[in-house]
Amino acid sequence: HKMIIAIDGYSSCGKSTLAKELAARLGYNYIDSGAMYRAITLYFLRNAIDLGDHNEVLDALSQISLSFVFNEHRNASDIYLNDENAEPFIRDMIVSEKVSEVAAIREVRSFAVAQQKRMGRKKSIVMDGRDIGTAVFPDAELKLFMTADPEVRVIRRFKELYATNPNITLEEVRDNLQLRDHIDSTREESPLRRADDAVILDNSNLSREEQLKLVLEMVKD
Ligand code: C5P
Repeated sequence: HKMIIAIDGYSSCGKSTLAKELAARLGYNYIDSGAMYRAITLYFLRNAIDLGDHNEVLDALSQISLSFVFNEHRNASDIYLNDENAEPFIRDMIVSEKVSEVAAIREVRSFAVAQQKRMGRKKSIVMDGRDIGTAVFPDAELKLFMTADPEVRVIRRFKELYATNPNITLEEVRDNLQLRDHIDSTREESPLRRADDAVILDNSNLSREEQLKLVLEMVKD
């Protein structure tokens, strides 16, 4: 029986960590929907696409092909933008600063959501994002909505980014998380919100092992 687990929540709440571990334990595919919006944003930045020009946006989207390719070294999938591995670039601050604005564009969302829906047709998957339980898979077998203390999220994100960019500051990371959360939860197109049937998981007080155990129990039921 095919299963879909949808994980939504604000930025840096630990969604992808939990999603990856769940997928590994259950033998499902993990799909990072945020990587798709980030890769689209990378293309838009590189080609200086005018976000206010619908024809230009549509034309750019028609030039984009996204795919996920499993990377054995990382034990996770890399996102490919056309034929290039975009993984090394999509978490750069320049992309993070623009991605929520790009993801709020109606044409961009329908482009990404159509592909996400197709990915859920064949195999059991765990997908994380902002609108997975509400717009992409409203019929998902299990929906989680993750939350965490805002400052815990800032520090977590800072540590991740600092590893590759020692110039980054806490303030920069804090501003970016606040900006993205604001745009993501107030945009017109399927804004970030908890689906009525999503289970809330606050990970500020739970260890990774505790969370994984809790959710594996839910899958069993
Ligand atoms: O998950 P991640 O933080 O990498 O996502 C980057 C951005 O992509 C989010 O801040 C949001 O603007 C957008 N996004 C979205 N819908 C999703 C996943 C991500 O709008 N399902």
